[in-house]
Amino acid sequence: MAILMDGKAVSAAVREEVAREAAALTEQYRQPCLAVILVGDDPASEVYVRNKHKACEACGIRSLQYHLPADTDMPTLLALVQKLNNDPTVDGILCQLPLPQGLSEKEVILAIDPKKDVDAFHPVNTGRIMSGDYGFLPCTPAGIMELLHRYGVTVKGKNCVVIGRSNIVGKPMAMLLLNESGTVSICHSKTEDLAFHTRNADILVAAVGKPRFVTADMVKDGAAVIDVGINRMPNGKLCGDVDFEAVQQKAAYITPVPGGVGPMTIAMLLKNTITATRNHWEEEK
Ligand code: NAD
Repeated sequence: MAILMDGKAVSAAVREEVAREAAALTEQYRQPCLAVILVGDDPASEVYVRNKHKACEACGIRSLQYHLPADTDMPTLLALVQKLNNDPTVDGILCQLPLPQGLSEKEVILAIDPKKDVDAFHPVNTGRIMSGDYGFLPCTPAGIMELLHRYGVTVKGKNCVVIGRSNIVGKPMAMLLLNESGTVSICHSKTEDLAFHTRNADILVAAVGKPRFVTADMVKDGAAVIDVGINRMPNGKLCGDVDFEAVQQKAAYITPVPGGVGPMTIAMLLKNTITATRNHWEEEK
C-alpha cells in the first residue's frame, strides 16, 4: 500500500515558514504584497482567487484583489497591470487564467514585470527555468518537487515520466526533474503506446485533465505517482487523473485529490511572493 503524500500537511509547513518570513520582512522592511487580477465570473477562477486571498491573509501577506467585469477590454486590463508594475509597494502580480474570450493571455503575461511575475509565466522566467537559474518557481511543478523532497523521493538517475506538455504544468515539471538529474520523458496526446512509457517510470506525473486516466496496469511497482489533475465529477466531487484506489495498491508513494498537489501550488505562490519582496528590498538597499 502506497504512502500518501499529504499536500495539506506539507503545505501547512511551508505556509508556516512563509508566515515567519512575512513577519520578519514586515518588521524590517515592509509587508509583502500580492495583487491578483480576476476578469469575468468563471466560478472555478473565483474559488481559486478567494483561496489565494485567504492564504495570503493567513500568512501575513497583504492581498489586493481587482475583479474586472467580463467585458473589460485589453487596454483597460493592460493599464491596470502597468499601474501595479509601477507601484513600489506591490511585490507580486498575477492575472487569474483563463481570461474571457477576446482577451489575450499572452499579452497580459508579457505585460507583467518579470520581477513581479510570481506565477513564473513570463518568458523571462520560463527561460530561467530552462537554464536551471530560477527566479520564481513555477508554482505547481515546484510544489511537486517540494513534496518529493519532503518524502525523501530522490530524482537523480530515476526514470521520470510526465504526462502532459502544457506551459503551466507539463513542460516546467519536466525541466525541474531534469534539473535534478532525472531521466525525463514527456508524453502527450500524440504519444504512441503511452503505457510502455509509464510502466517504466519510477516517478510518474499525470497532468492530463481526464478523470482516472492512469490505471494500475500503467504503473510500475514501487513508483511515486503524482496526480495533478483536478476534474469536477457530475456528483460535484473532485477526482484526479489517477485511478487512486487501484494505483495505491501498486505504487510506493501517491498524492490524493484533493489534498495533494493543489494545496502545494498555493503554498509555492506565497513563497514566490516572499522572494519578490526580498528582491525588492535588496534592490532598494
Ligand atoms: P492542458 O489541457 O493544458 O494539458 C493537458 C495535457 O494532457 C496536454 O499536453 C495533452 O497533450 C495531454 N493529453 C491529453 N490527452 C492525452 C492522452 N490521451 N494521452 C496522453 N496525454 C494526453 O492542462 P494543464 O493546464 O496542464 O492541466 C492538467 C490538469 O491539471 C487539469 O486537470 C488541471 O485542472 C490540473 N491542474 C492542477 C493544478 C493544481 O494545482 N493541482 C494546477 C494546474 C493544473
